[in-house]
Amino acid sequence: MPAPWLTGGEIEMTTPPADRAAQPAFPTTTPAVSAPNGAAAARAVGATKVYGSGETAVRALDEVTVEFPGGRFTTIMGPSGSGKSTLLHCVAGLDTLTSGRVWIGEVELGALSDKQLTVLRRERVGFVFQSYNLLPTLTALENITLPLALSGAKPDRGWLDGVIDAVGLRDRLSHRPAELSGGQQQRVAMARALASRPRLIFADEPTGNLDSRAGAELLDFLRRAVGELGQTIVMVTHDPVAAGYADTALFLADGRIVDWMDKPTSQRVLDRIKALGE
Ligand code: ADP
Repeated sequence: MPAPWLTGGEIEMTTPPADRAAQPAFPTTTPAVSAPNGAAAARAVGATKVYGSGETAVRALDEVTVEFPGGRFTTIMGPSGSGKSTLLHCVAGLDTLTSGRVWIGEVELGALSDKQLTVLRRERVGFVFQSYNLLPTLTALENITLPLALSGAKPDRGWLDGVIDAVGLRDRLSHRPAELSGGQQQRVAMARALASRPRLIFADEPTGNLDSRAGAELLDFLRRAVGELGQTIVMVTHDPVAAGYADTALFLADGRIVDWMDKPTSQRVLDRIKALGE
């Protein structure tokens, strides 16, 4: 039987644990962010990325075929240099493949002009990186709404309000990044990624700069965004604890997917990493 992440099986909605019920609810208006019927929110076929040429060429991705089902939280794991970020960047349209094909929804990225790709990224994709990339002179609210302002899109006030409450930033909106903790800054970055109601969120080591408590809060938020909003999240991490929040974990080594796990727990992920390393 093919692995579910290759076939895009039924979406399994995760019920948040009862102790999370007290947290602010997500905005409940149209869940337009989810891909229909568990269809692939993004996928790659034969994705290969070679950096450089000749003797110094590095094959960062080697014929990767993978599907990220809509409404699910997938994590990409693997040792440093295994190609995690390259896979994320190529699927997100931030970098191009040497060969192979990538789709976001039904749109093949290789068929788009630069301008079309920019529009697609802006409308369908949100990004969260390890560094928060906030503008220091803008307030939290201005940072959150900056991409919308740049694209000339009118913010959906109800949605935006819901996002701000969900990340718990209501009383910090007029603060500048330097006046916020690392966890709060990452939550601003998260709200910025969600503000345009993207179908897909790509996160590259989003907890890398956070202490364990702030990291747990952010991961909890991502988990709820999937469970309550039907959001699709693809997250790169090397942290087994972070991977424990996902629905599915993929394991990369030397630019190839070498394994996968459904309903990962940090302990099972740790065991698998050890086994793969042997
Ligand atoms: P990971 O995210 O798993 O640490 P990366 O995707 O960053 O791995 O890198 C995969 C491989 O590609 C590594 O060997 C890395 O050195 C190489 N690589 C990544 N980006 C570049 C680049 N811009 N130029 C040359 N080599 C790169």
